[in-house]
Amino acid sequence: MSPDPVVARWWHAEGERLRCELCPRACLIGEGQAGSCCVRRNSGGQLHSLSYGQPTGFAVDPIEKKPLFHFLPGTRVLSFGTLGCTLRCRFCQNWPHSHPEAVEMRARHSTPEEIVALAKQEAVPSIAYTYNEPTVFSEYLIDTARAARSAGLRNVAVSNGYITPQARREVFAELDAANIDLKGFSEDFYRDLTGGSLQPVLDTLVWIRRETEIWLEVTTLLIPGLNDDDEMLAAECDWITAHLGTEVPVHFTAFHPDFKLRDRPPTPPETLARARDLARAKGLRYVYVGNVAGADGLHTYCPECAQKLITRGWHAAETLALQAGRCTQCGAKIAGVFA
Ligand code: SF4
Repeated sequence: MSPDPVVARWWHAEGERLRCELCPRACLIGEGQAGSCCVRRNSGGQLHSLSYGQPTGFAVDPIEKKPLFHFLPGTRVLSFGTLGCTLRCRFCQNWPHSHPEAVEMRARHSTPEEIVALAKQEAVPSIAYTYNEPTVFSEYLIDTARAARSAGLRNVAVSNGYITPQARREVFAELDAANIDLKGFSEDFYRDLTGGSLQPVLDTLVWIRRETEIWLEVTTLLIPGLNDDDEMLAAECDWITAHLGTEVPVHFTAFHPDFKLRDRPPTPPETLARARDLARAKGLRYVYVGNVAGADGLHTYCPECAQKLITRGWHAAETLALQAGRCTQCGAKIAGVFA
């Protein structure tokens, strides 16, 4: 953790304790204590962001790995995260980063300007805030994203969408694209498996779609027996169609047993294919599968003429029949950001 933590935003004092206003948990934090995310601490009557300036590492990834399939496909993105998370998912697929109390990790100090310089050095067009929940380091994200925009770079986040409206406005104002996890489509699922609640995530999704220009994609990790039955999937797809529209790309990705949920098997490819078929039957035009190799659901097809537009291998993409955002066979406009 940082030896010199910065003062956080989005909090107020209640007596001798501090109420954090960054995520819907609204932790009431006593002197010397940290909130549920482990990285926002009351020190001397001020809330400090312990993850500011403390990335756990950097990688240059294909943008498809986020996953973002309709935002600058085929490009690379400088990716980093810090420690901590606003949810407590029992099935966390990245728990060494999200739950720093569970493992000792060394972070290294990097200023926003150093990150932008690294992105320029790597000649990537964008920076991704990912690996752990990026809203937990919102102050650092904002400063880095502003520096990136000044340098002509774009910003993308992979987030659980569990953030208060007041923080959301300021954090997401700096983003060009986001993939939001919709972890399951019931309040019971969120309460029992994430320690959070569904409604704030739905609110974030609707707000992004209706109130911003941010390119939006949605991901659901399918866990056998917990969120993969037809009834729940149909309810999710109906909600997406009604509130986000049929153009938003939806990703169904495969779970592997991890963290505190090791008694469930990995998601079979047939489950991913079933979810994709169901979503397409509900009218969603761009539905993908993830964490599997060689599936047809990795590719982008024209929703009008079925021409294959983009082919994808293991996170690598090749554009076949897409020019200026249109299908070269029938001319249909394809939803996304392609330049
Ligand atoms: S961001 Fe952290 S400290 Fe703030 S309310 Fe959420 S879990 Fe609690």
